[in-house]
Amino acid sequence: MKHFKSLALLAVASIAMMTSCQTTPVAEGDYDNYPVYKGDDLELTVGENGTKFTLWSPTADSVVVRIYNEGMGGEPVEMRYMERKSQQEPWRATFDEALYGKFYTFSIHHNGEWLNETPGVYARAVGVNGRRAAIIDMAATNPEGWENDVRPALNQFTDIIIYEMHHRDFSIHASAGNQYGGKFLALTQEGTQSPEGEMTGIDHLKELGITHVHILPSYDYGSVNESRPDSAQYNWGYDPVNYNTPEGSYSTNAFDPATRIREMKQMVQALHKNGIRVILDVVYNHTFVGDGSNFSLTTPGYYYRHNAEGGYADASGCGNETASEREMMRDYIVNSVKYWATEYHFDGFRFDLMGIHDIETMKAVRAELDKIDPTIFIYGEGWAAAAPVIPGEQCAMKANAYKMPGVAVFSDDLRDGVKGHFSQATGRGFATGEKGCEESVKFGIVGAIQHPQINYELVNYSKAPYTNHPTQVINYVSCHDDMCLTDKMRASMPDADEKTLQRYARLAQTIVFTSQGVPFMFTGEEIFRDKKGVHNSFCSPDEINAIDWSLKRANREHFDYYRNLIQLRKSHPAFRLATAELVNKHLQFIEGTPEQVVAYTLNDNAGGDEWNQIVVAFNGSSEAVEIEIPEGKWMVIANDATIDLAGEKTIEGNKATIAASAALILAR
Ligand code: CA
Repeated sequence: MKHFKSLALLAVASIAMMTSCQTTPVAEGDYDNYPVYKGDDLELTVGENGTKFTLWSPTADSVVVRIYNEGMGGEPVEMRYMERKSQQEPWRATFDEALYGKFYTFSIHHNGEWLNETPGVYARAVGVNGRRAAIIDMAATNPEGWENDVRPALNQFTDIIIYEMHHRDFSIHASAGNQYGGKFLALTQEGTQSPEGEMTGIDHLKELGITHVHILPSYDYGSVNESRPDSAQYNWGYDPVNYNTPEGSYSTNAFDPATRIREMKQMVQALHKNGIRVILDVVYNHTFVGDGSNFSLTTPGYYYRHNAEGGYADASGCGNETASEREMMRDYIVNSVKYWATEYHFDGFRFDLMGIHDIETMKAVRAELDKIDPTIFIYGEGWAAAAPVIPGEQCAMKANAYKMPGVAVFSDDLRDGVKGHFSQATGRGFATGEKGCEESVKFGIVGAIQHPQINYELVNYSKAPYTNHPTQVINYVSCHDDMCLTDKMRASMPDADEKTLQRYARLAQTIVFTSQGVPFMFTGEEIFRDKKGVHNSFCSPDEINAIDWSLKRANREHFDYYRNLIQLRKSHPAFRLATAELVNKHLQFIEGTPEQVVAYTLNDNAGGDEWNQIVVAFNGSSEAVEIEIPEGKWMVIANDATIDLAGEKTIEGNKATIAASAALILAR
């Protein structure tokens, strides 16, 4: 270790130097007037010219960078004060040698005290549990053939079919037959099978036919101890620590900084090779902790919004909310997303509690991703846990989706209209026999656009359309939050047998997968997995969250229904109209249908479809009903909870019967 003066003495010297050359001191807490820094060298650059550290922390009065041999434990091998020319400039320290293999932290002296060490906010590699940043050669983390990795083709956003999964749920159960259960590498394994011989893993995804995998948070989060890889820990990961590094517990060696990076890239590469795009769930709206976060330890206060008492505002319900409207935070989000899209080749981003962010930030994200590839998809939760501090009209809320072209929002309108209230377990929806849900279902069918045949006053939540085009809405009936579909059906229809419950689930998903917009499903529902009734399984054990793949053989008929439903959507562009104009031109609701029935036609080879006309009708009641349809001969594509893509059975006339709790799809 090199010799260095006492921290306290140097802090005093540093303050004196700062005061002498600073004309207009930055006022603590006057965040909008903090001098911003636009350089692309923040925190670490390393190469032949040595190692340079650059920290943005205008109100620090001294900063130290420490160099370590280890990612955890041990003493620093080097410790150096960083310098700045003025308070307008970031802090800098330069080492002549390239410090590959070393770890580093910053600590700032602020308001009279030394804050805890932090890896900074831009760390791209970290040691175990993300406590220290690591200096590695990023190019060396690229798997073989990475330079040839390409995103699978995508013509338009409405071609997307999203499958949301957690690494551990998907592959940890013994029945998954995956040697890398719960890890990034699980998705690189081809040929895995359940004990009954059904495909699991990536082969299962291909068999199902989805186009995009949405992985739950996979950046470095705080609630799983990475140093104990063999213990059965579980968390969804909505507790961000290091935004620009992968989570260590999903790697085979969390102690080696390069391993998690390489293995995450291998995952993306394997999915791409198999024709599947990959979406990262990003959670910039809050951090795991407030005062102890890397944001707070780097530039105290700046990255968060505050309440009237000066404490953390908390629109996330997680203890704090970040301030995307501040320039350095907006840049941070934009740069982080760009980084994942370029370094890791991610194809989409799902923004947690997007309503906390401001609209300008989401538009900036869209604009930057367009420069990389306009087919990168962006969507988010257009809501927050409480009202954010900034004015509502500035927030990236669902109701403001039309102000954010190219950014999609989840439709809770369709979700709860179809299955019943998300948090009231016994609440029913259209698919489970609730009356009065018709307009909510119709709202979903058109992709939340303006359509003359919808009475918006009767839609459950939104009393007005909110998208410009169907490309801006995610249609779904379940996700990781709240009860999964199986549990919801069981809770709301307690007297129904399993076969009948599956019937409700099929009706619900048929509405999702035939609606205009982007369909989204939660992992395992295609084999009727459950979570034993647990609503919020964010830290539940494997007994609750892991998918038992033996269900696939047991519920093979149910799986085949999903597979056919997805194939139906993929092979018929009428269900994937990309603009409001096309929907209004081709989609017409059949008027005068009985209560608990929604029916419509897709006309004139909609979207270039080979079918000239399609009838789609949903019956939410427990009795078969007859409806009027356009006169003629029709192929029966779906009826009575079954699908026949070839439409071998036909009917003729101007009337058709929809079985109880089922969809009817006719074509000609
Ligand atoms: Ca972690």
